[in-house]
Formats: sequence, structure tokens, C-alpha cells
Amino acid sequence: MSGRRKSEAYYRRIYAVFRPIFRLVAWGAYGVWVRHPVTYGEPVLILANHTNDLDFTDVAAHIRNHMYFVTSDHVTAMGLFGKYFDRWFDPIKVTKGTSKASGVMEIMRRLRRGGTVLLFPEGRISHNGRSTYIAPATAKLCKAVKCKVVTFRASGGFFIEPRWQNYLNRGKLFSAGVVHEYSAEEIAAMSTEVVLEHIRADLYVDAYAEQASRRQPFKFRHGLRDIIRYYDVCPGCRGVDTLSPAGEGMSVKCSACGYELTMDSCGFFHGEGDIVSTCAGWEELQLAEYRARFERGEFFSEDGVTLYSIGAGFEQTELCRGEFRSDAEGFYMGGESYPFHEMTLPEILSGGRRMEFSCGKSSYMLAKENACLNKFVELYKWAQEGR
Ligand SMILES: [Zn+2]
Repeated sequence: MSGRRKSEAYYRRIYAVFRPIFRLVAWGAYGVWVRHPVTYGEPVLILANHTNDLDFTDVAAHIRNHMYFVTSDHVTAMGLFGKYFDRWFDPIKVTKGTSKASGVMEIMRRLRRGGTVLLFPEGRISHNGRSTYIAPATAKLCKAVKCKVVTFRASGGFFIEPRWQNYLNRGKLFSAGVVHEYSAEEIAAMSTEVVLEHIRADLYVDAYAEQASRRQPFKFRHGLRDIIRYYDVCPGCRGVDTLSPAGEGMSVKCSACGYELTMDSCGFFHGEGDIVSTCAGWEELQLAEYRARFERGEFFSEDGVTLYSIGAGFEQTELCRGEFRSDAEGFYMGGESYPFHEMTLPEILSGGRRMEFSCGKSSYMLAKENACLNKFVELYKWAQEGR
């Protein structure tokens, strides 16, 4: 990976210095304090569910081993933080939306050298509180590494940092810990399909289903202020981009029909007629509305958007600013077109204000403060289904 890679002992020493800090972060952010963490005396591949940005600290609090993190190159591109994260922890970097082959080779290399590797196979944080897709490649990896595989699940993290926020709410996780330890022999005896079923079952959480019986309060720092970065369809009139924060962020209100939605301390929504009470319900309504519009030939555009090209190491170069348009065939901006048949699934970043997509051999990023760009991801999915 990096040309200046230091010895294993160097990274182990740095990790030993930071682990107490990770434990403190896990305690401060998630209310997790582990008295008796486990130590594995052999190489381990840890698979953990991903509910927010700092959940690696929670895994580090439970498992004492020095671990290498698998991260996307967005993390190491995050300015000074990314630079030092890269230098001190030597994470295994994978680029979202592209081939993960080099990342897989590097994971196997570190395990063979006796290291422990932490991977979040979902790769992305949930928008609705339910675990996201785990690709079959994860099960193939488990069989290829020929070492112990440990599954780790934390639940409740969704309410501490839902995907549209970039700050933490105050509250405690519902639970966290190792779910299962699979020996290399156990993994070898299972088919790839069965391994995949086990991983998916071990890591699955449904934050709202659990919260319905727990009723554990959280302190939502800015209420619903930022939820419109992802949820932009009014439950009342199905208007798009008509909601804005009201009541100092404690609610959102529709400028077209006046519908108002509030959220209680457990994260459930309340509005006239109780049309939606959870994010999962809201998302379902929203996706149905997007699709109904696409079917009618109504496509979205967005003003004041900046388009960047993305180079190696997530380097951004501004290409143009202006109106971004879309239709059933692709995206259009600055006199260029980006046809869907040359693209891979676009990815939402920064809660919905940024969208990364690749077209042909090039990668791009679209950005607009306070925009909700996920409708373009849904358009891509809808257009691809029709092929
Ligand atoms: Zn409305």
C-alpha cells in the first residue's frame, strides 16, 4: 500500500497508545465500558455491523488485539485527520464503487502476517435503521482467509448518528459485543451461501423494531434539522423538496400543504394522521413517490450544484457549477452527458449533500450544501431495472 510502510511492531506500539483513547471515546460517545475485553491469540478477521462513524472504537473496547481497519479512501482523504490516520494505523484502503480486489489481497496479507483485521462488510451506514446489504464477496473472503472469523454487533448506534448527520447525539447503545466466533474449520465446512447467511444474521439490526419495545431516550442535538438531507418527500402531500426545519429544528414543515412532523425522544415521528412513524416507513413512502414520478416521465434537476472529478486518493478537481439535470437515460451537466449504461451505482456521501458516481473510467462527485441528492441514486436504480 503506502511506500513508507513501517514495521508491524511500529503500528502495534501506536495502537497500544491509542487503544485507551478509543475506549474513552466508546464510553463517551456510546456509553460502552468493557471491563473484560477478549484477546485472541491468533489472526482474526472481525466482521462488524456499521451504524456510525466511530463504531470502530466500540469494537476496540471489546477486543484487545491490535487491529488494522479496512476503510474507504474517503477517510484517509479527510485532511489532517486522514493523513495521520493513514500514517499511524496503516488502514487497508478500498475505493467505493470500484474493484475491491487489491483490498482483499491486502486483508489476506495482513492476516497471514499474524495481524487482526476489522472490516465493516456493509460499507455504508443505514438511512432507515435497518442493516444494509452485505455482498456475497464477504463470505468468499471468510473462506479465503483460512483463519478465525469473529462477528460483532452493536445496536442502537443509528439513533446516535443517523446517516444525515455529521455529529453525534447523546445516548447509549442498546447493546454491543461479539456474536459468534467461527474457527477456520467451521468456515471451511460451510458453503459460501451458508457463511453469508450466518454473517447477515449475526450482524443484522433493526433499530426501530428494537426501540419499539425498549423506548430508550436519546438527546437529539439538533432534532430534525438535518433530516431533510435524506428525507425530502412530504408525508402529507408527497411534495418533493417542500420540507424545511421549523420550531428550532424540533420539527419539519411543508411549505406546500403545511404538514408538520415532530420527533419524540425515542426517535419516533408524529404528525397528523400518523402517516409515518419511523424512518423505514418514511423511506418506503419516499421511494414510492420518486418512482411514481419517474414512471410519469418527471425527472429531477438541481440548481447551484458543483461537479468535481475525483482522482487517485480521492483528490477533487472542480469541473463546473450550475444546474444538474437528469432523465431516464442519464445525468447532464456543463454541456456533458453521463449515460447510465456507462455508470456504476452512485453513492451518497455526507448525509445526502454529496453524491459520487463513476462513468466510464472516470469518477465524479456532485456537491450542494443542504441538497438531498439521493433521488438521483434512486433514478439510476429505476432506470437500470428497465433495461
Ligand atoms: Zn406537504
